[in-house]
Amino acid sequence: MNIEMVDLKGQYLKIKSEIDQAVLDVINSTRFIKGPVVNRFEKNLAEYLHCKHVIGCANGTDALQVAMMALELQPGDEVIVPAFTYVATAEVIALLGLKPVMVDVNLDDFNIKVDELEQYITEKTKAIVPVHLFGQNADMDAIMAIAGKHGLFVIEDAAQSIGSEYKGKKSGTIGHIGCTSFFPSKNLGCMGDGGALFTNDDELALKIRMVANHGQSKQYHHARIGVNSRLDAIQAAILDIKLKYLDDYAAARRDAADLYDRLLKNIDITTPYRNPDSTHVFHQYTLKSDHRDQLKEHLKEAGVPHNVYYPIPLYKQEAFKNWNENLYLENTEKLCESVISLPMHTELTQSQQEYIINQLLS
Ligand SMILES: *Cc1c(COP(=O)(O)O)cnc(C)c1O
Repeated sequence: MNIEMVDLKGQYLKIKSEIDQAVLDVINSTRFIKGPVVNRFEKNLAEYLHCKHVIGCANGTDALQVAMMALELQPGDEVIVPAFTYVATAEVIALLGLKPVMVDVNLDDFNIKVDELEQYITEKTKAIVPVHLFGQNADMDAIMAIAGKHGLFVIEDAAQSIGSEYKGKKSGTIGHIGCTSFFPSKNLGCMGDGGALFTNDDELALKIRMVANHGQSKQYHHARIGVNSRLDAIQAAILDIKLKYLDDYAAARRDAADLYDRLLKNIDITTPYRNPDSTHVFHQYTLKSDHRDQLKEHLKEAGVPHNVYYPIPLYKQEAFKNWNENLYLENTEKLCESVISLPMHTELTQSQQEYIINQLLS
């Protein structure tokens, strides 16, 4: 049976004529960078998120970097991140000469462990970057309360959680800045690279636009050092179409997750926890098992795609050896050894899912 981790082709074919026309329109317009199509998408996404400002950029990693530059974090400042996440989150912190301070995560929802967070705050701490891992939001009320008490910025990494809600608010719109990625396999994916920042703060929005565009205040006037990070019009045109289907995509992912849950009922494998404070948009469907490597072998033999997000705690990565040396975070270590993610996308069929689970348990 042909099964993909993410079926981008199947998703495209359902909206092919709309997408093709939108791409051709941009080509005919020759407005490839910035311009009306990018503005329209930013406006539509802002409306969807109930957020004042959306600023497109080149990718999700840049979004995080631009956020930290716009907040004027200075070399030596400390930024708190979960140790169980994709590398990009901590990478940009190190790249800017800031210090990534890694905190453990919860065993149930995989998100930053807020009851341990405060002990990592020093006088150098300037920001917290919660990651809403696999499509479910971190405990934002607690994070905002800690940030408020210590005067810290909160930059939400919503690369995997776009469209999900925390207590009725859209993911990425609660902190000072939210960041997302439009990498093709993300929940709102384009056909190349793309990313965006969200904020409700007018002044911050201006700074973000400036930083992402060579620090330019008006043409050829450079008020600060910036970067070149733009969302191009072809990607914006594609995203503007897919945005209309984002809630349907989330519903399809949730239905697939519900079916996986049912198929795995009464079996000694832990299915994903659902936090009552957050909706879950299932960027990944991630199981926990003490026999993870055995399950992995079953899937491999059957040719069923699967992946371990993430196999190594960030502090054990060679690139981060100068930071957080000798750190040992119990839950992070445990998760790296017990998680496995199954195929999850908008086009999964019941028979595919039954086959996957049969192979997993065979
Ligand atoms: C994908 C991802 C990013 C980076 O996004 P890119 O567009 O690939 O640069 C950052 N953080 C998390 C949690 C991600 O999943």
